[in-house]
Amino acid sequence: MDAPFKVTLLGTGMPLPDPLRFRPSTLIEAGSQKILVDAGRGATMRLFQLGIPIGSIDLLLLTHFHSDHVVGLPDIWLTGWLGGKFGQRTRPMRVLGPQGTLHLTHHLREAFSADIAIRMADEDLPAAGSRIDAGEFERNGVIHDRDGLRITCFEVDHGDKIKPAFGYRFDYAGKSVALSGDTRYCENLIAHAEAVDLLIHEVAMARPASMDSERIRRVMGHHSTPKDAARVFAKCAPKLAVYNHLVLIGDGVNAPPTVQELIDATRREYDGAFAVGEDLMTFCP
Ligand SMILES: [Zn+2]
Ligand SMILES: [Zn+2]
Repeated sequence: MDAPFKVTLLGTGMPLPDPLRFRPSTLIEAGSQKILVDAGRGATMRLFQLGIPIGSIDLLLLTHFHSDHVVGLPDIWLTGWLGGKFGQRTRPMRVLGPQGTLHLTHHLREAFSADIAIRMADEDLPAAGSRIDAGEFERNGVIHDRDGLRITCFEVDHGDKIKPAFGYRFDYAGKSVALSGDTRYCENLIAHAEAVDLLIHEVAMARPASMDSERIRRVMGHHSTPKDAARVFAKCAPKLAVYNHLVLIGDGVNAPPTVQELIDATRREYDGAFAVGEDLMTFCP
């Protein structure tokens, strides 16, 4: 068995439709299990680039309900059900997330009921593959424990009006990976990510002059600055920290900060190992 525990960033960008940085989605492979965290725009295309059948995803985990983290869900679900080699899912797609996941998946199935009926009648696709087996959780805890892979969800702080919002921790073969989801500086994240092998963390940055804009101040208030993230890295002391969701914003006059500026701002506060993620980067914890 090669690389039994592997993390691949499928999307590292922000809502901007940027072909170089798709929307947040992260693939976790643990033995034969394949798990996606979030379903940002383009996740199916990144899976196709990796040669991983979309229908082979065992479980989709949602961190929160901002559209840019979930708009790829119907694509993963329905394209994964089609008959081509990239699809062929014959069992229901499993989706776990915070409260709101049942509502979302129930209504998606309603919204796509015409397509589902047509394809079952015309292409003889299996009914089971058209279903979504969804579940919800409300608080910190273990949500999956199978074949040596344990997944724990933990609440994070994405802002007073953006609830629920969660991150995830994966423990497999003596190694650990934590994924922040979207969050400001958060003690509960630190409690769940202490001394992990790999800490995957979001980050947001704007130029000081951009902070005159109320829109930019609001966005920044929902995320971790490089300084916040560096504090989390220092407290958790992971073997490697990786930025996976780069919210680098400009205001139309002042350009967004560059990746080098993000690296410099982090390096000023943190001297441990960290990397800035790019789409399709892979890490073996
Ligand atoms: Zn968000
Ligand atoms: Zn986000």
